[in-house]
Amino acid sequence: MSADVREIIEGQLRAAGLKVTPQRYAVLDYLWSNRTHPTAEEIEAAVNQRFPCASRATVYNTLHALHEAGLVQELYGQGGVTRYDIKVEPHHHFICRRCGQLEDIEASAVQVEAREKFSDYQVESIEVVVRGLCGECQRDLENQGEGENHAEHRGESDSFEYRS
Ligand SMILES: [Zn+2]
Ligand SMILES: [Zn+2]
Repeated sequence: MSADVREIIEGQLRAAGLKVTPQRYAVLDYLWSNRTHPTAEEIEAAVNQRFPCASRATVYNTLHALHEAGLVQELYGQGGVTRYDIKVEPHHHFICRRCGQLEDIEASAVQVEAREKFSDYQVESIEVVVRGLCGECQRDLENQGEGENHAEHRGESDSFEYRS
């Protein structure tokens, strides 16, 4: 791991008014290098490889503190499973309602517009979630739908031929 990442992560913790602890550092470092929106269980397993003494409660408390401080984003994916993401670079998300796939979208005009609109307020975070169907799920559903339609059409034309 490069010194830059360590500096950025430690800087983020200090800026948020949090002490740099090995657990906080380990969680942020894992999220920094794994932009796969892991669950708390996945983070716990990874952190435990580095700190075998980190209990489940410690990891969950750490995630909670990092979320409260605005360093980590909580995302509600498929089946209400909470997934986590580091918030170093502002970005938004697409969540597929069928398979739960999460994809990053660069923060853009939304960010600027929100800050302008709420310039009198103290904006602490901006989170946009785009929900829908990913490409693969769309194709799956289309294929299923096509099968049913063909059956119906066949039925109609059969009865038509019978009449004539
Ligand atoms: Zn999908
Ligand atoms: Zn993300």
